[in-house]
Amino acid sequence: MKPYDYLIVGSGLYGATFAHLALKQGKRCLVIDKRSHLGGNIYCEKIEGINVHKYGAHIFHTSNKQVWDFVNSIVEFNRYTNSPIANYKGKLYNLPFNMNTFYQMWGVTTPTEAVAKIEEQKAEVVAKMKAEDITAPRNLEEQALMLIGHDIYERLIKGYTEKQWGRKCTELPAFIINRLPVRMVFDNNYFNDKYQGIPIGGYNKLTEGLLAGIETKTNVDFFNDREYWENIAEKIVFTGKIDEYFDYCFGKLEYRTVRFEEEIHNMPNYQGNAVVNYTEREIPYTRIIEHKHFEMFGQEIYNCSKTVISKEFSTEWKDGMEPYYPVNNEKNNTLYARYKELAENKKNIIFGGRLAEYKYYDMAPIIEKVLNISPIDDFNPR
Ligand code: UDP
Repeated sequence: MKPYDYLIVGSGLYGATFAHLALKQGKRCLVIDKRSHLGGNIYCEKIEGINVHKYGAHIFHTSNKQVWDFVNSIVEFNRYTNSPIANYKGKLYNLPFNMNTFYQMWGVTTPTEAVAKIEEQKAEVVAKMKAEDITAPRNLEEQALMLIGHDIYERLIKGYTEKQWGRKCTELPAFIINRLPVRMVFDNNYFNDKYQGIPIGGYNKLTEGLLAGIETKTNVDFFNDREYWENIAEKIVFTGKIDEYFDYCFGKLEYRTVRFEEEIHNMPNYQGNAVVNYTEREIPYTRIIEHKHFEMFGQEIYNCSKTVISKEFSTEWKDGMEPYYPVNNEKNNTLYARYKELAENKKNIIFGGRLAEYKYYDMAPIIEKVLNISPIDDFNPR
């Protein structure tokens, strides 16, 4: 008999949730992670008493009550609501696009006026597409113009999107912008989900709770002694890069990555909000995150005399960098499909999560996915 039922490679949300549920079912689990800490990209480091999201801002949101109840059974969540501000050439606008934004953009004060203004803004592109006999938007630019019109596209979408993806809006798929709500009410809540918040005490509490009672090893790279790790457990849950698992035999999958420049400021409140997007092309970073606002509210902000901010720079991924966003274009999706086929023929290995499934996942859908594997033993990775 092997020493473990499951070896879980990677301690991010997929691996940690899986281990948690497997332990509950009496399985013997070992979790290994090549980083020096657990938690994958939700990991936070305490700096000046503030939980700093080391791998980018994470805001938990879901409409799934089962997922919400599950995470709250591990750690209580606070009432943080994401309401990013856009800064375009020094002028501020509320996001997502709602009555506040329309007022700031055009001075309109009622939904009727806002609708009329958007229709007027859209008219040009609608006429152009009609003349060219185009029925559906062919790229992000056309989609944005049809959705919200010229002014908002130029000021709040174009520069930000081109910085984030490193490609022109005319070369990007329309669907990227679909996740941005357009609302005819004065509501700055970025997400439409029923539940949202940040774990009280920070995301490491969630990781610690999920992995309580489970054997873990950090600074351990599966690929440094692959044979040893492959024989240590009956089954493996692999959450790393799927192409690396198969020795890049068909070639490398591409990613976008993010680089963070962290600054500590000698003031309690730098920008008055957790997230400020810089939507003009000329400013090299896409947004500034002020971490304390995720967990400190009201007087708490001033009880902590310093603040930590991160400027976020989006770049093309190269070897040795952290892979963040899968680039789900045709070329990469085709490549991934070939790896997936290999994965499906592997018995006793589950490939799960953002890197192993080459899919952009928010946190809640990852948890939902693992919760739906039940009982763990019957799990079929296909
Ligand atoms: N977006 C934009 N302006 C903004 C914020 C978002 O144009 O101020 C667009 C952009 O195309 C981006 C997409 O909306 O790629 C999704 O942005 P979001 O910030 O939700 O993505 P995240 O990187 O946080 O998952």
